[in-house]
Amino acid sequence: MSFTMVVLVKQVPNWSNITGEAMNADGTVNRNALPAVFNPDDLLALELALDLKDREGGRVTVLTMGPPRAADILRDALCRGADRAILLSDRRFAASDTLATSYALAQTIITRLSPFDLVICGRQAIDGDTAQVGPQVAEKLKLPQVSYVERVLECRGDRLVIRRNLGRAHEIVEAETPLLLTVVGGGGSARWPNARLLLKYRRACSAFEIEKAAQARGAAVGELKDELAARGLLIDTWGVDEICADLNRTGLTGSPTKVKKIMNVVLKGKDLKRFAPDDAGVKALVDELTAERTFG
Ligand SMILES: Cc1cc2nc3c(=O)[nH]c(=O)nc-3n(C[C@H](O)[C@H](O)[C@H](O)COP(=O)(O)OP(=O)(O)OC[C@H]3O[C@@H](n4cnc5c(N)ncnc54)[C@H](O)[C@@H]3O)c2cc1C
Repeated sequence: MSFTMVVLVKQVPNWSNITGEAMNADGTVNRNALPAVFNPDDLLALELALDLKDREGGRVTVLTMGPPRAADILRDALCRGADRAILLSDRRFAASDTLATSYALAQTIITRLSPFDLVICGRQAIDGDTAQVGPQVAEKLKLPQVSYVERVLECRGDRLVIRRNLGRAHEIVEAETPLLLTVVGGGGSARWPNARLLLKYRRACSAFEIEKAAQARGAAVGELKDELAARGLLIDTWGVDEICADLNRTGLTGSPTKVKKIMNVVLKGKDLKRFAPDDAGVKALVDELTAERTFG
């Protein structure tokens, strides 16, 4: 069986190159001061999809919600073997928390990318770090999900035999498509961009980039757009209107999470407490965690 797959990918700041301007005065991340990279787990999610396409056949669409420069990771995905790339970008998506982000992604899949067999996400983005978006998208699409996926071992018709990486153990599960997977490392590394595809897709443009590209080539925007579309080099660029999104569920309005305070947590040796490995010790630990509001 060949699979129609949607891979959710995110562009994230590269934390390995932190500069003095990495944080704004209000404690938020100054994304413009940091180089942007493909979220590592999402590269593995893409690899899993491409591997499945190589083995079983199918089609891989990559979808990201982000600012115009997120088109860079879409070009990268095309150069690695994705068939289609979509940039979801609109000022009205800005300041989305995970609930609003997953709504926009799920709404895109429902309105523009159905039917599909698999939605494949990374487990976690290295900036927001919540690991919530994948499961929330599954919920909104009313899909079963398999998390911590390392590899699809085998396909039996529309049933997949999947190896989950649980850190110190593996679990083999079988699940029927349509299905959402969240992918973790352990199953090998992502393939490199292909030289032939690099030559082709370096010219791929999102709607935000066409004007500049037209200027550089001395061409009319409309003409260039038609030419790129005919050659499969137009990155579909959609906003709130194209996915018929409810404005009450996007951006700041659709984001119930409120960040009240951001601080550096410095763990000090004196905070270390030991509890005896017996019933009284466990009770004391639970009381302590409850009093500190870690629980409850
Ligand atoms: C109150 C609040 C305000 C925020 N405001 C902003 C803001 O103004 N600008 C901003 O950039 N961020 C903002 N964020 C962060 C933003 O909510 C998260 O980056 C986003 O929701 C994804 O969550 P995460 O990074 O924890 O992803 P995770 O849940 O850890 O990601 C899991 C997987 O979901 C998929 N995924 C996650 N995000 C995307 C995406 N955007 N596109 C495609 N796939 C994705 C990927 O496959 C990823 O591996 C805000 C967060 C909060 C709480």
